[in-house]
Amino acid sequence: MEIARVSNHSGTAGTMRGFNLFGVPVRLHFTFVLLVIFLVVTDLGSGHTSSSYALFLVGLFASVLLHEMGHAFVGRRFGVRTTEIIMFPIGGLSRMERVLRPSEELSIAVAGPLVNILLSAGIFLYMFYMHLSVPIKMADLIQPTDANALARLAYGNLVLAAFNLLPAFPMDGGRILRALLSLIRPEDQATRTAAWMGRMLAISMALYGLLAPQPVLVFFAFFVYLGAAQESAAAMGRTLTHGIPVRAAMITQFHTLDHGNTIRDAANLLLSTSQEDFPVMHGEQVVGLLGRNLLLKSLAAEGPDAYVAGVMDRDFLLLEPGDDLSMVLPSMAHAGRCALVMDDEKLLGLLTTDNLSEFLLLRRFGMEPVV
Ligand code: ZN
Repeated sequence: MEIARVSNHSGTAGTMRGFNLFGVPVRLHFTFVLLVIFLVVTDLGSGHTSSSYALFLVGLFASVLLHEMGHAFVGRRFGVRTTEIIMFPIGGLSRMERVLRPSEELSIAVAGPLVNILLSAGIFLYMFYMHLSVPIKMADLIQPTDANALARLAYGNLVLAAFNLLPAFPMDGGRILRALLSLIRPEDQATRTAAWMGRMLAISMALYGLLAPQPVLVFFAFFVYLGAAQESAAAMGRTLTHGIPVRAAMITQFHTLDHGNTIRDAANLLLSTSQEDFPVMHGEQVVGLLGRNLLLKSLAAEGPDAYVAGVMDRDFLLLEPGDDLSMVLPSMAHAGRCALVMDDEKLLGLLTTDNLSEFLLLRRFGMEPVV
């Protein structure tokens, strides 16, 4: 399978653009931004010096990022690109461009927590070397002070490693568990077990958080539950599409635009059909893609008489009719995506997020694909 070109999509819903780290875009989920604001505001209220506390938070943030870079680095060694890293309050989430084989998943999952263990060991070694005292008692660590900032960072990394190694989705430990289980069981059964562990973990965390009472645990539990549910939905999608070629799900009846058409022509087509993405042709050859959002943006910026050839997307997702649907699911995971299905130079069909979810729904109700 070859995913030739991935268009410059707008990223996962509810996230904002952060920055690039070694070529991987890092996006911030809105709940993560809320957490940062919360931490800053509560810190303003407290009396202690802010500088060491701020350094500690920045250090912890950097540790989480390095953890994700660990996943990305090992992924790259298997030839898997990381398409984005999303920062959630419970940590980062790396999106890989394709579905991983169990052996790949095992190594990639282990790499993250390993980074935290190494960071922690490095900080402890540094403290030892500099003859700094390392607090051992919990009571000396709980309250942030200038003196214990470094030790808190070292212990923080151990906590990150331990939390991520919990054998439940969406933690790395859940991925490790799934990879190991799938050696002895069918893969979707392994996935269901890891997802079930995730939901159980979330429920226990929430109950403990309510009884303790530790509201922050309830907050974390919410994300663990969401992540576990998302993983099992993704696994269900993979089971329903595994071994089915792209041509079985693609749209075969569609309209195209000519490169000489104007945005007005495109807008009329948008109105008179239910189609939202239009391949732009030059004779028999596809030269671009014009989607609904781009069309509206161009209409506002350039007016109705501009040519579609001047505004169309030249950088679109290409699929071959024989590609395995389960392998292209990750690249179709964003709402409003459209891929062109082409056999050599010939355009055969379109695959959109909408018709893909239609296809999944029909499969769930027992429809056999026409291959
Ligand atoms: Zn991780």
